[in-house]
Amino acid sequence: MDENDLGTKLDRIVLTEKEIRDRIHELAAEIDRDYADRDLLLVGVLKGAVMVMADLSRALHVPVTVDFMAVSSYGSGRRSSGVVRILKDLDESIEGRHVLVVEDIIDSGLTLSWLVANLRSRGPASVEVFALMRKPDALVADVDVRYVGFDLPREFVVGYGLDYAERYRNLPFVATLTSEAYDG
Ligand code: 5GP
Ligand code: MG
Ligand code: MG
Repeated sequence: MDENDLGTKLDRIVLTEKEIRDRIHELAAEIDRDYADRDLLLVGVLKGAVMVMADLSRALHVPVTVDFMAVSSYGSGRRSSGVVRILKDLDESIEGRHVLVVEDIIDSGLTLSWLVANLRSRGPASVEVFALMRKPDALVADVDVRYVGFDLPREFVVGYGLDYAERYRNLPFVATLTSEAYDG
């Protein structure tokens, strides 16, 4: 779908393709500096972080390895279940590694704080977090995010990896939905 053709289900563009691309390149330059002499392992959180992982990893100049985890927290709807479950674990051990968790969005921060604690228990050299988007409630939960792309208001967004009932992940931008989209 095109940014100029929102149709009846997309309400408003929150982040354009260009805004996302430019910000990822800015943060990639920071990460290049911070990890210049370290062996970096990017851990993407499926499925939402697929787009940001693809773009961030290609924007980096430092050598990296890439792994993925899948955890469930939201189910298929809009509300957090409060329960985090590992659906797919990492392929490799992270012992002694410098880990950068790559997240699409932090809302309550529940998923992330659980994930970081889980990864820390595996004996890595360091664990830091990259989140493309962050909502205000993340500040309530005590999550330390080293790299943040955008601080967004407290509204549900889709696109660039993010879904509503598994749809809209393939949008190249981030948008809000109209009430029509939620009705089905
Ligand atoms: P948290 O545990 O921080 O509340 O939520 C974590 C996960 O919920 C995110 O990684 C993402 O998958 C999903 N999520 C949170 N906010 C949104 C949103 O605005 N839109 C979509 N599509 N998913 C969200
Ligand atoms: Mg996520
Ligand atoms: Mg989802």
